[in-house]
Amino acid sequence: MARIAVLLMGPPGVGKGTQAKLLAEKFGFRHIATGDILREAVRKRTKLGKLAKSYMDKGQLVPDEVMLGLIDEVLAETDSDVILDGYPRTVVQAENLEPTLNRHGFVLKQAVFIDVPDDEIVRRLSARRICPKCGAVYNLLTQPPKNDEICDNCGTKLIMRDDDRPEVIMTRLRVYRDQTKPVLDYYKSRGLLKIVSGEGNIEEVHQRLLNVLGLKQL
Ligand code: AMP
Repeated sequence: MARIAVLLMGPPGVGKGTQAKLLAEKFGFRHIATGDILREAVRKRTKLGKLAKSYMDKGQLVPDEVMLGLIDEVLAETDSDVILDGYPRTVVQAENLEPTLNRHGFVLKQAVFIDVPDDEIVRRLSARRICPKCGAVYNLLTQPPKNDEICDNCGTKLIMRDDDRPEVIMTRLRVYRDQTKPVLDYYKSRGLLKIVSGEGNIEEVHQRLLNVLGLKQL
């Protein structure tokens, strides 16, 4: 039987990663976050990491030809259902995605857009902190660590993502509007798009996602 692919879309900071992780834990999807893969490559200073860093630090998108190769590689080595978080982000990536999914034995079940107003996004991104060692993500307002800015998992001092600084946030929102919004229209026109509100707490948004994906609370 074909494996399923679900896309979580939305501007930066709407909670795609948090929600994807929850769904992955509960339903056995593999959570594929292209931003996390790229950050890992940057940490390890690989060739991909060095190239990606120059775009990421400025809040720009990594070129399509790099991303198409990356997603193809990741899907080739995945044998469970998948949630894609942060991919596709351009129409070129979207047009290429389904043939790639199908080639690796997946069917695209749904693209879900998580919607949050701009001012709330800026507030959330400014409060986001990550662990530079294990990659855990916190939010000082909604999901703080137990001890002041220290990672609960590994005790490392948390940091702000370079691209969560206010000047870069503005670029990322603009890039999102110019390059990623058209992807929503692409899926809408194909009848694959569902929209849920990203406002409220994590559990409330999770519940909305379960509803649109037709999944039962475990
Ligand atoms: P994220 O963690 O999803 O916000 O991604 C962080 C950064 O990684 C983005 O601002 C881009 O520079 C890069 N990135 C992640 N996913 C993609 C993608 N699908 N296409 C191009 N660049 C991406």
